[in-house]
Amino acid sequence: MMKITFLGTGVSVPFENRAQSSILVEEDCRILIDVGCGCMLRLEQAGVDVCDIDAICLTHNHLDHNGDLLNILKARWLNCTEKLQIYAPEGTRFFLESLLEAYPYLRSKLKFDVFEVKKFKVGNLNFKVMPTIHSIESQAYIIDDTVVVSGDTRAFAELISSECRYMIHELSLPFNYPSDYHTTPENLKENLKFCRAEKIFLVHLYPQTHAVKEEIIRFLDFDAEVVDDLQSVKA
Ligand SMILES: [Zn+2]
Ligand SMILES: [Zn+2]
Repeated sequence: MMKITFLGTGVSVPFENRAQSSILVEEDCRILIDVGCGCMLRLEQAGVDVCDIDAICLTHNHLDHNGDLLNILKARWLNCTEKLQIYAPEGTRFFLESLLEAYPYLRSKLKFDVFEVKKFKVGNLNFKVMPTIHSIESQAYIIDDTVVVSGDTRAFAELISSECRYMIHELSLPFNYPSDYHTTPENLKENLKFCRAEKIFLVHLYPQTHAVKEEIIRFLDFDAEVVDDLQSVKA
């Protein structure tokens, strides 16, 4: 049984005290999917020590998804010695090395490995990666054919039709909002006909999208829920 905890359901602007993107996956291991700002605080509130994290999976390197990465690595340097496994899109190793040029005092201290791979295993859980449609190299995670985490993307059939029980999908934008790289209600609905999940959890809503969330849920005509920080579900 997998436990999913939504640590951060927010976006790049402050809103309703939501932390930025982050999801905790627990089974025989503990994995963070994205670590936006506020993630480390939420992790403490969820009663999980940073040293008990086995791996971090990044969907992409936008600041609202990786802002707490160096904070977490630094806290681990101060509290434990184990290397952290980071799974991430191509280019992430170079990105992190460049970032550490700006923080020379951390360079030899932080312990991590970066894996830019399409398939991997953490503990008992099998992960598959699918590239998504976003403004930079981005990827969704399909965990044990049970849970899908979209990261930032335009909704598209190949991802939405993935074998799973629960779909965790972004819904950044409100009705009639032109965008190639994020999801709108219309864009999600036209793809939900391919959805094999029994329920979809919606995250990453901008304030103008939250303002019409009841209308959106009615419009989608699917078992969909806008989730809050620290809410959890068993899968
Ligand atoms: Zn993004
Ligand atoms: Zn984002």
